[in-house]
Amino acid sequence: MGLLAFPRTSGAQAAGDPIIDIHQHVGYSGRPDEVLLSHQRAMGITTTILLPSGRPAVRPSTHDGGSNGLQAQALGNDACHAFAQAHPREFLFGANDVPDVEGATQEIERQLARGAVIIGEQKFGVACDAPEMQAIYRLAESRRVPVLMHWQFGMYNHGFERFHTMLAKYPRVTFIGHAQTWWANIDANHLDQKVLYPKGSVTPGGLTDRYLRDYPNMYGDLSAGSGLNALTRDEAFTRDFLTRHQDKLLYGSDCNDLVGSGEKCQGAQTIATIRRLAASKAIERKLLHDNATRVFRL
Ligand SMILES: [Zn+2]
Ligand SMILES: [Zn+2]
Repeated sequence: MGLLAFPRTSGAQAAGDPIIDIHQHVGYSGRPDEVLLSHQRAMGITTTILLPSGRPAVRPSTHDGGSNGLQAQALGNDACHAFAQAHPREFLFGANDVPDVEGATQEIERQLARGAVIIGEQKFGVACDAPEMQAIYRLAESRRVPVLMHWQFGMYNHGFERFHTMLAKYPRVTFIGHAQTWWANIDANHLDQKVLYPKGSVTPGGLTDRYLRDYPNMYGDLSAGSGLNALTRDEAFTRDFLTRHQDKLLYGSDCNDLVGSGEKCQGAQTIATIRRLAASKAIERKLLHDNATRVFRL
């Protein structure tokens, strides 16, 4: 069977184009290291950024420990660093900690000092403008790394509607939005914030759409079921959205399957969806690769 017979929907590399995945985890749902490696290769990923969990803690911001491991058995700073060290051409790593735990900024600093390229995934039950979060934003500013935040109404990073105050206060910090509440709010008619995976047609001008339009430091992470849902719920909207924000959106997978292709792999489906709905090859390349090289200075 020749290359031309290879199903395009598999998400496998088209013509060897490089792809940067800005959102994966070590130990995700118990996935072994060698399967993470084969999963990323099967998806056609050339560079993966591994996002650590914070240190385990029992307190309100981790929902008394229920959100440890990013609620996904994701491993922490040392495991991500070690994995990237073992596969230096293919993997980079982030820095993270529970923001209101004693010594959080020092722990994040420790990981940045050994080469972390991002702070995140910040997925904790804290206000987005809390003093502890602002300490992280100041660290990101001084170390010139982005901050990736999981927005989930009532659960993680409270106060999405007032996040513009942080975007304005920290204009030199690159913020990357991710997850349900981030993606639900592309729609100006998203009225019930308890709905996390809205379906159907999208009216442009939602809060997320405006943050991307109005703030040069606001970026979007296309990963996870929430990202794929947002891309597929109204394809006419999506073609226009990808064009308008072509310099602000970054491919990530954030999938925990063992396969890396086909129906079981949401990350592969997201790649296929971007290829199908991007209005030009140039836009496709920005979303799958070029924007990440700029944001992460790769
Ligand atoms: Zn994640
Ligand atoms: Zn997958």
